[in-house]
Parts: sequence; structure tokens; C-alpha cells
Amino acid sequence: MAILIKNGTVVNADETVKADVLIENGIIRQIAPDISVDAAGLTVIDAYGKYLFPGGIDPHVHMHLPTPAGYSSDDFYSGSRAALFGGTTTLIDFVTPHKGEKLVDALNKRKAEAAGSLTDYSFHVSPVEWRDSIPEEVKVCLDEEGITSFKVYMAYKDSIGLEDEALKKVMQAVADAGGMVTVHCEDGDRIDALRNRFFKEGKTTPHYHPLSRPPEAEADAVKKAIDFAAEARCPLYIVHVSSRQSLHHIHTAQQNGQKVYAETCPQYLLLDDSKYEGDFEQTAPFVLSPPLRKTMDNKALWDALENNMVQAVGTDHCPFTMAQKREGMNDFRKIANGAGGVEHRMELLYTYGVAGQKISLNRFVQITSANPAKIFGIYPQKGIIAQGADADIVIWNPDTEKTISTQNHHMHCDSDIFEGFKITGSPEYVIVNGKIAVHNEKWVGKNIKGRFLFRK
Ligand SMILES: [Zn+2]
Repeated sequence: MAILIKNGTVVNADETVKADVLIENGIIRQIAPDISVDAAGLTVIDAYGKYLFPGGIDPHVHMHLPTPAGYSSDDFYSGSRAALFGGTTTLIDFVTPHKGEKLVDALNKRKAEAAGSLTDYSFHVSPVEWRDSIPEEVKVCLDEEGITSFKVYMAYKDSIGLEDEALKKVMQAVADAGGMVTVHCEDGDRIDALRNRFFKEGKTTPHYHPLSRPPEAEADAVKKAIDFAAEARCPLYIVHVSSRQSLHHIHTAQQNGQKVYAETCPQYLLLDDSKYEGDFEQTAPFVLSPPLRKTMDNKALWDALENNMVQAVGTDHCPFTMAQKREGMNDFRKIANGAGGVEHRMELLYTYGVAGQKISLNRFVQITSANPAKIFGIYPQKGIIAQGADADIVIWNPDTEKTISTQNHHMHCDSDIFEGFKITGSPEYVIVNGKIAVHNEKWVGKNIKGRFLFRK
């Protein structure tokens, strides 16, 4: 099956060129000014006036995540389908072992759960405790499974979070094996104390969610993670950075030449803590961690994206239905933490970043695709429109207009934290592994199946 895309503007991380693109058998075969082919069954698309972007790579999603409120409401099939509607063609999810479970065993279980994904996928693997076999287990994941990233949590200490000593040892093990540590930075002890205090005082509504997770609790953890990583000489990727104070520490480390990468998410760029004013139904959808901050944090994060202090934008996609959220109706500590976003990332960043004149087209490609591919070891298979790369291409119409709504999104969730956001520019075609999945907001995909991606 071959597709010839004519007359489009190919946008990569470092250059923009007008060119035709020929796709064959899932791979980009040729990029040239005027390609003409005469092949049976060739699909020709005229992309005049459209951009061709490398398919989006969302480096932070949680499909089918087990929680006390049940599984997050998108599984790999529904979540990857929603991702494709928004122009994201690769997902990086997480492997969270049970205590005592070998990392590679948990990885293999998770691979089976992800088999229904329509996009290609990879994982960050989480050591949730220290044991003497961790260095060997990390090595197996890296050398035999092609996993490059190991996720640790400084919050959630009653379940998956690590104490400082364990965190240091994990960083050393990952550094020695040649991997990268990905870290959720929030001071778990301080947050637990605040949450319990508020609850005891009868302060039980979502309003207290952000107050129990202050920006300092994030920034102090960021500083600590950076210091530990420097000591271990471990490359560090800080997920979902939400606060201005955290950026200060990240900037200092980067200035010192330390290998520290940062990710933020659309919710931290575009939403603020005024969303926690209102009744339960209005505010519970915004219970996610870290919480939404102030408009000055939004602005600082946009600046950091522009200045390359932040290299990637993920979504932390982790939707729950309102029925699931209501389990915390009388106790904000029990509200399932998370929201959907995988479908909206590209459109939001295009609308409010590119069209909003905060970032260039090339910067857009860097933060949505090329950088995640490079950081997580799947470049240039992904993250670039180039000869020999996987044919994940989004043909982008810069002129469309729409409004985000629960009524028209494809995520399996009955609320949407971006409800009412106006969008300019959307995918006209989404091509994944050489097959057209979406055309003008309609699903047209046939025989689409994702694969597990690993560093080769
Ligand atoms: Zn997450």
C-alpha cells in the first residue's frame, strides 16, 4: 500500500521545506520536490496549503491504570484511538510492578495489556522499591528489552513512592546501566501530612486538593532529585513540571551542564487553580497531581518551552469518569487523580503556541515529537519526516476552527478539562505506520495495529 502526499509543507524539528512525500509499506520512501509514481493502488493526497508534521509522541500517558477507584477510563484501544484523532501516533505509558514482582515480568504483563493499542507504544518501567536485584533487573530491561527510562515517584509513599535512600540507589543502578530516570517530583511526606490535616479539620472538598500540594512541595523535590541525580551521574527527566519555582532549579542544573530534561503538560500551560472554585461536579475533574497552579506559572512554563528549559510536552493522560471521581465526594483524598488530554495536546499547542505566536512551527515539532523521540531512544525511527523513518505523518490544516467538548471528543470520559477551549488548526489526515487512520475527524482506519517500540 502506497500513499503519495503532494504539494505539502514538511515541517521537521530543524527545517521546513515544500516537498512531496512517498510512503510505502509503512515507511517513508522518498521526500523530493516533485515525485510522480505510477503504481496500482496508489493513494494520492493533495496537501497544498497544509503542513506535514511527524506524528505526535506523547511521552506520558496512563491507559488502563489500576487505582482504588477502578481502572483509568481509557484502555489502550480507546486511548490510542483518541490519540490518533488528535494527531498523536506514539504513546509512552508506564509499567508499575507489584511489590516483589520482577521488573521484566511486570513489563511483559503490561505489553500484553497494551496489545490492543492502535499506535506504537513503549514504557517507562518503575522500580517501586529497592532490592538487591534491582541493578540486574534494570540491566535486563535495558539490554534485552530496549527500555531506556525508569520512572520513580517521590510522592505516593504508601504505595509506589520511594524513600530517599532507595531513590539514590535506583538512580545509581540506572546510571550504571546506561539508562535515564524519569521522576515525579512532589514531597510525599509533606503532602500526606497536609492532606490528613485538612481532612481532620473537616476540609474535605476538591478546593483543598491544590492547597495540600503546594508548589514548594514540588520545587523542593525537584531540587532533591536533581542533587541525587548529579551525585549518581544519572540523566534525569522531570515529568509534568507545573510550577515556576521548579523551573528555577531545572534552569540552574542545565546551566551547570547537568543532563536534566523537563516535561510539562497542556493543563499546566493553559489552566489555573481558579478551577478549584465551585461545587464538587465542577471541580473534581480538575483533581490531578501536581495540581493546577497560578497564571504566573502558566506564563513561566510557556517561557520555559520557548527557551528550551522544558524540552517536551506530555499529557499525563489518565481520565476517570465522574462516577469514579465521586468516590471522593466526601474526602478529596479519595478522588481519583487525573484527567484525559491525549487527544488535545497537538491542537492545544498548535492553537495557543503556534497560532498564539509563542512558539515556532519547528519548536512545535520539537516539543510534540522530535524531542520525546530523541530523549527516549526511538529517533529517527520516530520524531522526523525523513527517508526510512516510520510513516507516522499528520497532514495539518491550519485554518479549521472548532471548540473542544465532551460531546465531540473521543476519549472515554464524561468530562473534559478543556471543555469550551477554541481550537484553530487540526489534523486533516492522520497516517500511522503508513495507513490512514483519520480523515477530517472521521475514523477511516483499517487493520491498524500498534507495536511495542524498543531502542535498537
Ligand atoms: Zn503520570
